[in-house]
Amino acid sequence: MPKLKLLILDNDELTVLTIRNVAEFAGMSVRVATTITDFFNLLTTWHPSHIVLGLIMPGMDGVEILRALSERKVTAQIIITSSIGEQVLQAAARSATAHGLNIAGILPKPFSPKAFRAIIEVPTTTAVTPHEGQQQSEISVPAITAQELVQAIEQREITVAYQPKVDCRSGALVGFEALARWHHAEYGALGPDLFIAVAEKHGHIDTLTLLVIEQAVAWFSQFKQQYPARLQASPLLCAVNISALSLHRLDLFTRIEALCKQYSVMPQEVMLELTETGAMDDPVTSLDILTRLRMKGFQLSIDDFGTGFSSMLQLVRMPFTEVKIDKSFVMTAQQSRESRLVIQAIIDLAHSLDMKVIAEGIEDLATLQLLQQLGCDKAQGYFISKPLSAEQVNDWLEQRKLTLEQQRIQALHSLKIMDSGTEQRFDRITRLAKRLFGVPVALITLLDTDRQWFKSKAGTDISETAREHAFCNYTIEQDAGFVVNDSNNDPRFIDNPLVNDAPHIRFYAGYPFRAPSGERLGAICLIDRQPREMSDSDLLLLRDLAAMVEEEVATNQLLNEDHLTGLLNRRGFETRANQLLQICRTQQYAASLIYFDLDNFKQINDLHGHRAGDNALLQFSKLLASTFRDSDLIGRIGGDEFVVLMITQTETDADAILSRLSKTVMDYNQTISTNTHLRYSFGISTTQSLADYELQFLYTKADEAMYRDKYGEQQHDVASHAPAPP
Ligand code: C2E
Ligand code: MG
Ligand code: MG
Repeated sequence: MPKLKLLILDNDELTVLTIRNVAEFAGMSVRVATTITDFFNLLTTWHPSHIVLGLIMPGMDGVEILRALSERKVTAQIIITSSIGEQVLQAAARSATAHGLNIAGILPKPFSPKAFRAIIEVPTTTAVTPHEGQQQSEISVPAITAQELVQAIEQREITVAYQPKVDCRSGALVGFEALARWHHAEYGALGPDLFIAVAEKHGHIDTLTLLVIEQAVAWFSQFKQQYPARLQASPLLCAVNISALSLHRLDLFTRIEALCKQYSVMPQEVMLELTETGAMDDPVTSLDILTRLRMKGFQLSIDDFGTGFSSMLQLVRMPFTEVKIDKSFVMTAQQSRESRLVIQAIIDLAHSLDMKVIAEGIEDLATLQLLQQLGCDKAQGYFISKPLSAEQVNDWLEQRKLTLEQQRIQALHSLKIMDSGTEQRFDRITRLAKRLFGVPVALITLLDTDRQWFKSKAGTDISETAREHAFCNYTIEQDAGFVVNDSNNDPRFIDNPLVNDAPHIRFYAGYPFRAPSGERLGAICLIDRQPREMSDSDLLLLRDLAAMVEEEVATNQLLNEDHLTGLLNRRGFETRANQLLQICRTQQYAASLIYFDLDNFKQINDLHGHRAGDNALLQFSKLLASTFRDSDLIGRIGGDEFVVLMITQTETDADAILSRLSKTVMDYNQTISTNTHLRYSFGISTTQSLADYELQFLYTKADEAMYRDKYGEQQHDVASHAPAPP
């Protein structure tokens, strides 16, 4: 590796000394310039890899120098220092990044040697990366003339690179941005920064845009045909850049529309990216034009958002579908609190206006994760992919599949939910699924590298199968349910051993669930040995069950569990009860809530001590758990208060179960001394109309019923009361 070279321009002696020491210790060679002339001389003759620049120096203007560096397209990593305060330094760094400089970091003075060491030790990717395939050297391209450009357009030397955009959470492909490239006979691939301005200045921008769009739309039309719909998070979009100057050129849009038609691409699949400055210069006219574009069906994105001068509130009036956060914020988000605040504000505002948000310039995993946390919808940047030639796109997709799978496996393993014993909280969901759908088998599967492992299984003893045969492989590739009505009629499964041998799957329905970090871990699945149909409402129900699984994966079980009895505690019970009631309401199932109170708990405690009291609670909870169905929710919500929420299919459902409980408790009491006999009261409430599916309402009704029951009748050793009328 060539030796790193650091050039310092700062006239604070102490700063220079500190930096020099650290840098030399780190093996860098160091030169110090004290005048601007020296500095630029060394820059051209010595070619430093790193530059430290004082922002404010007597007789010198650091900002001017930064501008000069950007004009010379300097690729060295730049560190700006000053005692002016972090906020100003951040702003200068952002402006420099926006001008294409590679800012490695800022050093607010006073700084410790450690702070400087941290900056030079962090391997930063180059902010201004040379365009794909271009050498990272300082070859300067002489100014492009309008005539050369016209010729290039005529000879179709301008081609298109495609930069993928992905869903921020799942990583699934959502589209591409088409970026102009000039394959220059002499200078190789030139980036748009070198010729767009010329095209704009000399009135050739529309011709250039049309040339780009024609290629992009033709390519996209082919691409979308071969890209499987099941892999798409949402319909794929092809984005193209529209110059600010073109916004008022209505004929341009008519021609874009015609191109779409010619290549069978719908305007809904085309995202026009307009810069903030272009759209907001003349808000009234822009509003008019943008609205018409939306009416034609085009999607509109506001590019480089945050760099212009428009007020964020102007956005409210504009019919954009998407806001694209400028890369100067994204690329500094790790270091700058201010950038993070701007990003968060843009996301919140856009979401409140029903717009999607995309971040561009994502260069590392940490930034991607930060944007996920901040709620960003889509992501674009070198970390995901550089702009690609049309030929490279398929290779990238292959590679991407592998990367995502690795991330998925990592997420799965880090949750530590595999190869555990059975867990009631998951079993409850499979039991519920089995019961609600009336299928012989319901499973929660986790897709590991080579196998599918069943986190929970109702109706089968198999605990894993080879990954290659898993139906769930199809399910986790999408964000919706995957159904095979009859595997005998489906060529994908006809030779599958799970179809031909035990368990003889004829029908399969699965719905994927995700890790808190977004990766699809596995699916909740229904299996039948007969062909079956799955209605839309069935699919919604399965989706709700998958959401319940997701919730269990995400929650810390210890916070939801009563330590003594292992039942749900109040908080655990209530979150799940609300979910279950929601399902019952949608599916129009009746639900019953039964409130239990141990009548003599205090007595047992007082007379026989806490251990006997604890034992009474434990025994009662065991009797409840053995009597009710595995799919019912049972919680201990107070000292001696228990509650059960059950889906009731017939009027007598609850009655039958309650008399079973009464019998079980009676049997139990016969095995222990009379002093510690369990005596309980209960009240029951059942939903009768849509308005009743509120936990609070059911609590109140059940509580009333219990008190009526408790004080209205004589108590027995074992309460075997008929449920009070609701
Ligand atoms: P833009 O529309 O904001 O495009 C994104 C630019 O960011 C692209 O530069 C892309 O290569 C670059 N980029 C993407 N990810 C990263 C990243 O992670 N780090 C860094 N440092 N950069 C990243 P490119 O291709 O040089 O394009 C520059 C600008 O030129 C575009 O900015 C766009 O405004 C303009 N442009 C490109 N193609 C066209 C076109 O066909 N017509 C018009 N009017 N303008 C175009
Ligand atoms: Mg753009
Ligand atoms: Mg941009």
